[in-house]
Amino acid sequence: RVAYVNGRYVPHGQANVHIEDRGYQFADGVYEVVPVIDGVLIDEELHLDRLGYSLGELRIAWPVARPVLRLILREMLARNHLGRGIIYFQVTRGVAPRDHKFPARTKSSLVVTTKRLAPPAPALLENGVAVASQPDIRWQRCDIKSLSLLPNILAKQAAHESGAFEAWLVDANGVVTEGSSTNAWIVTRSGEIVTHPTGRGILGGVTRRSLVQLAEASGLALVERGFTLVEAQAAAEAFLTSSSAFVLPVTRIDGQPVGDGRPGPVTRRLREIYLANVAAQIGA
Ligand code: PMP
Repeated sequence: RVAYVNGRYVPHGQANVHIEDRGYQFADGVYEVVPVIDGVLIDEELHLDRLGYSLGELRIAWPVARPVLRLILREMLARNHLGRGIIYFQVTRGVAPRDHKFPARTKSSLVVTTKRLAPPAPALLENGVAVASQPDIRWQRCDIKSLSLLPNILAKQAAHESGAFEAWLVDANGVVTEGSSTNAWIVTRSGEIVTHPTGRGILGGVTRRSLVQLAEASGLALVERGFTLVEAQAAAEAFLTSSSAFVLPVTRIDGQPVGDGRPGPVTRRLREIYLANVAAQIGA
């Protein structure tokens, strides 16, 4: 396995960064995870757009020009013979003596890694997954894809320890904002697809964005509004989305079955619609 670190392709086990990289000291950086299927980067431009947004909000410079980053990503896929998996890249404000203020002259750091990932186990799709609610204790700029993920880590670990696959984060009003690393959705008993609106309260998922467009293009009823945990538990269906899971049915929330406890027809349909969009991108 090969990693990319600031201009060099190095064996993964020997790749390292400076101890005064601000990513290491302050989590002063952002990242992206792009799914790779048949060696194709899925929704690459949407991920690069979001990277640009996160960098802009934090006033971190692009480490290399966008077309160069595209080339590096391709080179990493080739060198790692990656057919199916994810490519991870992170950009930090760079290396400087530790001081909270932005350093005057520092070059952004870029690290890229790849990971092979099998498709989700059939059992996950057939049975759906369990989620556990956790208080959303994050900051008010969740729209930035920041490296600083402590609240997400703590929520995911608590969910894992309770036997759940993912944590659903609940704000002070009882509204489910999103998952620790996924977006959260329900289908109401009247058949309406619901997910939290974008804004500073959630990370605008690329999968979320694509699925909103695909659902609308398919004439499905969809509304972007907050839904409460109570509403989710009374919903007909629930599911989550992310670049690594795509569309995954959620069949239990805090131990309570959602609907009849089985993945529902709307979720299935949305997964199919999403996979057709992926297939079109890989030319299958
Ligand atoms: N919300 C959070 C907090 C996340 O970390 C992620 C994963 N990046 C998502 C949602 C899903 O986003 P995407 O569909 O772009 O993977």
